Amino acid sequence: MKTIGHWINGKHIEDQCRMQDVFNPATGEICKRVSLADRATVEAAITAAQSAYPAWRGTPALKRARVMYRFKELLEKNADEICALLTEEHGKVLGDARGELSRAVENVEYACGAPELLKGEFSKDVGPSIDSWSEFQPLGVVAGITPFNFPVMVPLWMYPAAIVCGNSFVLKPSERTPASTMFVASLLHEAGLPPGVMNVVNGDKEAVDSLLEDPRVKGVSFVGSTPVAEAIYSKGTAAGKRVQALGGAKNHAIVMPDADLDNAVNALMGAAYGSCGERCMAISVAVAVGETTADALIGKLSEQLKTLKVGPGIDTCSAMGPLITESHRKKVTDLIDSGVTAGAQLVVDGRELRITGHENGYFLGGCLFDRVTPEMKIYQEEIFGPVLCVVRAETMEQAMQLINDHQYGNGTCIFTRDGEAARYFSDHIEVGMVGINVPLPVPVAYHSFGGWKRSLFGDLHAYGPDSIRFYTRRKTITQRWPSAGVRQGADFAFPTHD
Ligand code: NAD
Repeated sequence: MKTIGHWINGKHIEDQCRMQDVFNPATGEICKRVSLADRATVEAAITAAQSAYPAWRGTPALKRARVMYRFKELLEKNADEICALLTEEHGKVLGDARGELSRAVENVEYACGAPELLKGEFSKDVGPSIDSWSEFQPLGVVAGITPFNFPVMVPLWMYPAAIVCGNSFVLKPSERTPASTMFVASLLHEAGLPPGVMNVVNGDKEAVDSLLEDPRVKGVSFVGSTPVAEAIYSKGTAAGKRVQALGGAKNHAIVMPDADLDNAVNALMGAAYGSCGERCMAISVAVAVGETTADALIGKLSEQLKTLKVGPGIDTCSAMGPLITESHRKKVTDLIDSGVTAGAQLVVDGRELRITGHENGYFLGGCLFDRVTPEMKIYQEEIFGPVLCVVRAETMEQAMQLINDHQYGNGTCIFTRDGEAARYFSDHIEVGMVGINVPLPVPVAYHSFGGWKRSLFGDLHAYGPDSIRFYTRRKTITQRWPSAGVRQGADFAFPTHD
């Protein structure tokens, strides 16, 4: 059985202390075992990162960026292997894995711009013979903690930017999907990154706590569920670290009476059921404005759901794969049961779906609820499964109020042909990422990604320009080179420009 250890100081480390099984969700079989790092292993990774930091910080930004150019080429060269690992452990269909890798590579391309991004700000002659500039210095050792659902892309939101800024990095990926993350990170070695600048420790809460408690770790980027994000933000900031912690979501789409309904339905199918609903940007609530819109929407969605091809991710005919684990499947079906008990209409029920030849896989058919109301658990909680809840609203204001009242504010979208309504929506909606006829408004790599409310703890968003600010500290220098012979006496007043 293949085991996945850690990658510390440029070497693969096997550590047999505690091991956990990794499953292939399409078969329910164990495909690998992963080491769970203890405190000593995490400390070894931090020590390696700390030792590599001074030389890396002193390496010109252009040379740091060149590593990323080579890394990008290696990611593209190894795309088939990366996507096969992703599909095996996560379950997502191969086309979706390719999409994940492609969006991941964009972040590496952005990091290639480091010399430009780190140029700083300069003002000449702020006073007599006085110049002033701000430069952006790295933090030191930075840690990243990532979720199971994007094992390649989410880590690449973090470490390419952190590394080109001159930091060294310790990544703690999800213990449920470790192999693709590990494979990708170790390509950095081939790309020419000096040992110790990037390290990967696999593990669970023990590894995370060790990272949070070590004073040598200066910054933490976290992506995962809201309860863990909130705890990590509190603990990390209390320890004086800079922390950004991105959490869960409940993304609503408003369908207006004037929307191109066929377009909206196609978009909703992909956004709700793609990756089995296991995306933080998945649309899980559709708010139909008006009864006629709602009836038509339910009719068209249920028709399309009948044709949704569910099956193993490696089968190119599959549009949707399995959920990540048996226990997550149980959590999702319990939530569906709670919706039925609460009185929502389960128009399409995927609970009984079985895939021939894959009876032990964690499959669940697409589910569609109508007449969901705000007090129901299926409305309040993130389900993270292939379940779309339709809520009926009388007006656009009512639909927007629902979104603004919700605890999460990650992504949202409006389907309409009315530019005025769309503009009002984007102006007033309390959500971090907004789509107008775009169901998954995941920002491109040169904008930043992040939600509002309980979808993000911290001030700066992930990747793009915010990541350069997150992984650096501003230092402002004011310098004077007085002309020969010009000497000032002691002045006890606060310096002014007069
Ligand atoms: P998770 O919170 O269970 O795990 C995320 C990471 O935290 C993993 O590395 C895990 O090992 C670690 N962890 C788990 N429990 C911990 C604990 N008690 N203490 C310390 N560390 C702990 O999340 P997940 O199930 O892997 O991922 C799904 C969640 O991530 C969903 O809620 C989804 O919305 C969210 N997510 C958010 C974004 C975003 O950008 N906002 C992106 C992707 C996923």
